Amino acid sequence: MPIASLLILPGFHTHWNSFLDSRTKIGKTFKMQTEVSFESSSKKIEAGPWVGKNYWVSHFNFDPTVVSRFHFPDEVIFHDVTLRDGEQTPGVVLRTNEKVEIARKLDEVGVHRIEAGMPVVSKEDFDAVKKIAHLGLQSKVFAFSRLVREDIETALRCDVDGIICEGPVGVPKLKQFNWTYDQVVERAVDAIDFAKKHGLWTSFFGVDGTRADFEFTKEILGAVSKEAHPDSFVIVDTFGCATPEGFGEFVRQVKEIVKEPLEVHTHNDFGLGVADAISGLMNGGVAVHTSVNGIGERSGNASFEEVAMSLKFLYGQKVRFDFSKFKELSRLVQRDTMFPLAPNKPIVGDRVFTREAGISIAGWMKYHLGSEAYLPEIVGNNHGVFLGKKSGRHSVEWKLKELGLPATEEQMEEILVEVKKRSEETKANVDDLEFKKIYESVVGSNYV
Ligand SMILES: [Zn+2]
Repeated sequence: MPIASLLILPGFHTHWNSFLDSRTKIGKTFKMQTEVSFESSSKKIEAGPWVGKNYWVSHFNFDPTVVSRFHFPDEVIFHDVTLRDGEQTPGVVLRTNEKVEIARKLDEVGVHRIEAGMPVVSKEDFDAVKKIAHLGLQSKVFAFSRLVREDIETALRCDVDGIICEGPVGVPKLKQFNWTYDQVVERAVDAIDFAKKHGLWTSFFGVDGTRADFEFTKEILGAVSKEAHPDSFVIVDTFGCATPEGFGEFVRQVKEIVKEPLEVHTHNDFGLGVADAISGLMNGGVAVHTSVNGIGERSGNASFEEVAMSLKFLYGQKVRFDFSKFKELSRLVQRDTMFPLAPNKPIVGDRVFTREAGISIAGWMKYHLGSEAYLPEIVGNNHGVFLGKKSGRHSVEWKLKELGLPATEEQMEEILVEVKKRSEETKANVDDLEFKKIYESVVGSNYV
């Protein structure tokens, strides 16, 4: 069924849009405009949805043949799993107050749904979920559960809006649990029916879905759909082992079996978590599960900031977040999880917009978009110049400007020689403190 007809099913539009409507105030529109002044023989690629004043991505993304294959929803719903899947990252412990703080920030950024945890796990988890559910956030608050009534009853006591009920469907997972197909169907129908009857927005989450027997998938989804009426199904690549093409096809085929909306939940074991998530969405998924900084078990989940930025800028989809808070959110999660983040982590990494080589800085200073696809201010990140062995005069010039220090051409040359010498000695960069010392030795201490 094409997405357009799905959207006009009675009740569907209002039901799903309840995740979106409360978020409209947060949304920021990036104006599609061109501010490129230099001459070019290829004028036609200087204007289009791929160019704005602070970004310039590939126009091939918008080629009609490419775009004709997309079946994105009107607006993707983001379901955050940082506090549940993210906390499962080995070594990560989040205290209740930290979970609350992260939930507030997710809400501020504009995330539609927050999976706050699995209340049945411990008293701490219960307290955190309950507290988040009572914060009065615009984001809807969800709990995670097994196909067990006790889990659902515990979630109900937290006053959450919705619940994600997980059950094994993949062949390797079933072997591990020693469950038969009949047991899964029976427990899924019972648990989901129970959750629905108690007023919870309910989704069935088929663990290891990408390694499930499709005949069984049809049977279980069909039975759950017919007998328990869930609000959605989550299509899950638990072990990040599907290609974007394989995952997209899986989503497309499931869409032909059930009328309920589909959500996608992908992992990053081969580094394709984000690509899989987007493929699931372009093949009919309407909601995506993501975690901040991509944290999660093993190689983690699809990263929130990467999926959101890609959908917005590379695919031209309507994504309404306060993008300028992305780095702030990332740092909060990094601090509270104490989980290190690679400096070159796309979008929010500390050195993503930092340059060292003098020649690269010279070009970048003239026209930033000639050296990067989008400017860091979109996501609250910063440009930086790494002063070291490969620096040039422009690097020194930039640093002086940043620190508000005057110098003549000759002094700049002298400072550069000292910077290079220092970096070769230490095999490290020259930080601001050291740079000021060098400046002082060359220019004097009047300005420092
Ligand atoms: Zn997961």
